[in-house]
Amino acid sequence: MTALLDDPLDAAALLRAGALVAFPTETVYGLGADARNAAAVAEIFAAKGRPHFNPLICHFADADSAFAEVRADARARALAARFWPGPLTLVLPRRADCRVELLAGAGLDTLAVRVPAHDLALAMLRAFGGPVAAPSANRSGRVSPTSPAHVMEELGGRIAAILDGGECAVGVESTVLDLGAGGAALLRPGGVPVEAIEAVIGPVGRPLSPEAAPAPTLRSPGLLLSHYAPVLPLRLDAREVAADEALLAFGPPLAGAAITEQLSLARDDREAARRLFGALRRLDAEGRRLGLRGIAAMPVPGGGLAPAIRDRLARAAAPRG
Ligand code: AMP
Ligand code: MG
Repeated sequence: MTALLDDPLDAAALLRAGALVAFPTETVYGLGADARNAAAVAEIFAAKGRPHFNPLICHFADADSAFAEVRADARARALAARFWPGPLTLVLPRRADCRVELLAGAGLDTLAVRVPAHDLALAMLRAFGGPVAAPSANRSGRVSPTSPAHVMEELGGRIAAILDGGECAVGVESTVLDLGAGGAALLRPGGVPVEAIEAVIGPVGRPLSPEAAPAPTLRSPGLLLSHYAPVLPLRLDAREVAADEALLAFGPPLAGAAITEQLSLARDDREAARRLFGALRRLDAEGRRLGLRGIAAMPVPGGGLAPAIRDRLARAAAPRG
């Protein structure tokens, strides 16, 4: 049985007991465990079916607690001051006395850290008083959850509880920035646009596109090519749509689809990010029920959160396996 919780103190108590608790953040729901407890961290990988080479992000109540576990330079401190709490994850060298289990970081000498901008998450983290390792609360490779119902679909029965915070406000995962190796490199586009980061610390190295960079060559082992995937095949940059396809629309929709979900009629990147994973889930479920051939996604051009949306769609469309 997976309990639905309202009180962040109950969530913290379960974490302390070594249990897995899904909790809301501004990006997507996370699947949390005490990052100092090897057995609890191992349970995260087991519940998700996540490969052990894919490291987890550690969540903290504030920057001081995060920087007690990793070495932060002036750039990291400037970014934390500007964007935390918020959807930015920093990859930094572990301190010698870092308490986070090596398994949580997949054995790397760096650790990904973040302070989420969500009142319930912060109240839980404060009450818990330690690092909480948390990937997205979905089965590995599947679409990330942005509501408690999504988490229940993915992990109901496999985890102790879900802290109910309603729908997530941002809807795509955090931006992951590597500050570990001297330069600054974008490992995953996300909730903080890279232009906003560059305004604080100067030029940031951009990743290869998902298509151009198969998983083994990536600096970030978790950036697997096939990810965030619905069951139905996804077709990108659709300029027309067939009668046996579901349509993921951005702006005025193409005519002729069997069913349509609108990301943002006004082509607003934030609205589209917030709706992305829920829309994919609904098209997938309804499209399978109707026996449709696949999902056609209209192009999502532009900056801001659009690069994160394009990244998720490209991975959702990538060949499986
Ligand atoms: P998720 O937890 O599913 O949101 O994914 C976390 C992302 O952060 C994955 O793509 C990981 O590969 C990446 N990540 C976490 N820790 C590190 C690290 N120490 N070095 C590089 N990438 C990391
Ligand atoms: Mg994930």
